[in-house]
Amino acid sequence: MLRINCPYCGVRDHEEFSYFGDATKTYPGLEKENHAAWVDAVYTRNNPKGEHFEFWQHTLACRRWLVVKRNTITHDILEVMPARNRPIGATQPAPYNGPKASKGANT
Ligand SMILES: [Zn+2]
Repeated sequence: MLRINCPYCGVRDHEEFSYFGDATKTYPGLEKENHAAWVDAVYTRNNPKGEHFEFWQHTLACRRWLVVKRNTITHDILEVMPARNRPIGATQPAPYNGPKASKGANT
């Protein structure tokens, strides 16, 4: 049985949590020339073997976002931390500030 030690609620069955993928992924800037990089970031999935950081949400309790360090071979959970405390290169996409003004693009 897979059990996750939520930092806010304590040890719970994994069925209370939802998996949201790779927590090490980085996202490109929102510039138009990064379209291909965004397609890759959104749709390409790695299948890492061994220790890996994953986003999980405790959806049936506190609803907090967590990062779980899990061994994908043994399924052992090695560490659980609040998502904001993740020590790795995972970043959130840059905030969207609306379309950039362009001069004469559609005139
Ligand atoms: Zn929780």
